[in-house]
Amino acid sequence: MSWNLFGHEWAAKLLRGHLKSQNVRHAYLFTGLEGVGKRTLALRFAQALDCTSAPEPGEFCGNCRACRLIESESYPDLHIVEAERGTQVVVDQVRQLQRQLALAPYEGRWRIALFPAFDRANIYAANALLKTLEEPPSKVIMLLTARSAESLLPTIVSRCEVIPLRAPPIEKLAQALIEDGIAEERARLLACIAGGCPGTAFRMIKDPTLLEQRTEFLDDLMSLLSGNWAEQCNLIRKRLQANSRNIKKQRSRTIEMLDAWISLWRDVLVEAYAAEVPIGNPDRRDMVHRLASSLAPESVVYVLQRIEHALQDISRNANIQLTLETLMLDIIDVQSF
Ligand SMILES: [Zn+2]
Repeated sequence: MSWNLFGHEWAAKLLRGHLKSQNVRHAYLFTGLEGVGKRTLALRFAQALDCTSAPEPGEFCGNCRACRLIESESYPDLHIVEAERGTQVVVDQVRQLQRQLALAPYEGRWRIALFPAFDRANIYAANALLKTLEEPPSKVIMLLTARSAESLLPTIVSRCEVIPLRAPPIEKLAQALIEDGIAEERARLLACIAGGCPGTAFRMIKDPTLLEQRTEFLDDLMSLLSGNWAEQCNLIRKRLQANSRNIKKQRSRTIEMLDAWISLWRDVLVEAYAAEVPIGNPDRRDMVHRLASSLAPESVVYVLQRIEHALQDISRNANIQLTLETLMLDIIDVQSF
């Protein structure tokens, strides 16, 4: 069976090569944007590691018990340690896994530990995992994913083979969506918003409310930019209370919101520097143009950094309202609308 990935052929080739030459590392770190295919690639690799009927070294059959159970993420030798969106991986999860990793695999050649979005682990969990990376048990392969290598402890990154995944070209995704039966205009818009990341595009196709939510996030951004600080704080409070009283949901929604804002400000940066790359929000060209023409490029960089910083803080359990209010103060400092 082919690895059947959307892009990332070089990464599949590299991993296949490690298997063929029996030179598999103890730990791999897949980095890249959400929806780019990190988890999918990690699972394909897990299948190739433990397939019992591989047609040739480095490949997997897709049909044996191991392949099928890994695909459905229910294989006894596959341990997935993750946190719900808006929460963090905690040290107990890592410790519990460590006890399991100390035992021989149940049925496979390898025990595989998958840590999706390990940038969402708290510092205690990260330090606990570091110990395992320093002294990896035999017959264990650890697969981590994260937005970027910089979002993890350098000591963790240095013990992993880093596989940086870039989004395939937007046009390639648009074509694939059109071939899948999505109307051309919609396919192009989805591919742009997803920044070429197939997982994100498919998520939006499956759940149309995500697109509506994005519209609300970007409309809110415009309202926030045109209000004074008191008005901004009111709007933030109102939105947080209206959407959910559940703090996990609030956090997860705020992360989605900041992601949408970052994508828009990246477009502003592209326009400010007249860079010739496709923008991610073609339906918001007017807004992008207005912001780009009213701010110096270095101010756009600053705003983008502040939003990214706020996103990181909120992912790490910072108080949501306080972080957003501080972010607004930072933005007020540079804006001149
Ligand atoms: Zn198989």
